[in-house]
Amino acid sequence: MFQAFLIKYAEIAIKGKNRYLFEDALVRQINRALRKVDGSFHVFKTQGRIHVETEGDFDYEETVEALTKVFGITAICPVVVLEDEGFEQLKKDVIHYLDQTYQDKHLTFKVNARRARKNYPFESMQINALMGEALLNTFSDMKVDVHHPEMMLNIEIREKIYVYSMSIKGAGGMPIGTGGKAMLLLSGGIDSPVAGYMISKRGVVLDAVYFHAPPYTSERAKQKVVDLAEIVSQYAGNIRLHVVNFTDIQKYIYDKCPHDELTIIMRRYMMRIAEAIAIENGCIGLVTGESIGQVASQTMQSLLVTNEVCSLPVYRPLIGFDKQEIVEISEKIGAFETSILPFEDCCTIWVAKHPVTKPNLGIIKKHELNLSEEIEALFKTAIEQREIIEL
Ligand code: ATP
Ligand code: MG
Repeated sequence: MFQAFLIKYAEIAIKGKNRYLFEDALVRQINRALRKVDGSFHVFKTQGRIHVETEGDFDYEETVEALTKVFGITAICPVVVLEDEGFEQLKKDVIHYLDQTYQDKHLTFKVNARRARKNYPFESMQINALMGEALLNTFSDMKVDVHHPEMMLNIEIREKIYVYSMSIKGAGGMPIGTGGKAMLLLSGGIDSPVAGYMISKRGVVLDAVYFHAPPYTSERAKQKVVDLAEIVSQYAGNIRLHVVNFTDIQKYIYDKCPHDELTIIMRRYMMRIAEAIAIENGCIGLVTGESIGQVASQTMQSLLVTNEVCSLPVYRPLIGFDKQEIVEISEKIGAFETSILPFEDCCTIWVAKHPVTKPNLGIIKKHELNLSEEIEALFKTAIEQREIIEL
């Protein structure tokens, strides 16, 4: 029944000259999302709107699903496109449309006509009145409510006639590509994919880095991270995933530093490596899935100590979230099932029974001096020999 979609976006974000940047990015992202859907689509903008028109057969469900993953869209309205065959025919078509679309006709409604083509024989107000009357005569359960209608029936008269009344909630946020680029530290857990989703929701392009420790972490643990990156990329657009072999650094720290400081020192090296790769790839921020107090390495004191090695800003979009709230987003974006697969991640292997929860920066720095002999070479090798996977 539907042959087109009207795409709505929040105008508030796009005052002045940024408007076309926002709209062009949105058109690009819609095209990208629809590339994976069966069908032929034409995406274009007119004054203050974006339209998706279809040609020939297409899969409606898949199309809607793809559009609901595009950041920057607040609502998606499926549109019926009609030829102008006179007002009597239009009434019939609209009645047929409503009959098909709404099972339950106990609805308040308002007709909102817009005559963009001025040679149409009725003015907008007349169309509202005449169509309203026709609907009341046909559907005895429907009532008019001009202030808070449950259903707004939009009729736009252009060369063709566009009818829409349904509105499907969009993903919100800003189109990918309008907000710079950041490096996501992506593990196999629940939190970091959600953190990536949250940052990309604001229009930010992502690269990701994963630290693995073969043979202590398995190939399947790595595959799980690749799968999570793929899930995030459905929203965030193409992601370049850097897989860094962290085994030698981890072992070296284990040999040279107090075991209760292993996690914190390891995290400082993760951040250092992530930042080096970030800068090399044009990223202007780092992103982690940390949340205050969730584990020993995420107390404010620990965050202070890990943060200290970075000069780029570190974005932690989950910082104030409870685990349950993070799980809800993880489920919503379709990552949860993958995140809870039981493969070890590289931090859990040598974790001390009682890691420090209030590390002292001075002491940590002093103990890191124990690493001075080889760490630079290991650091360089880890970065040079990383594997790059494009998603
Ligand atoms: P997650 O659920 O994201 O794994 P977590 O609750 O397990 O988080 P930590 O293991 O303390 O928390 O990790 C904190 C953050 O550090 C993660 O959210 C992630 O951004 C990053 N991180 C942890 N381990 C790795 C890893 N192996 N590779 C890349 N980033 C990692
Ligand atoms: Mg983890």
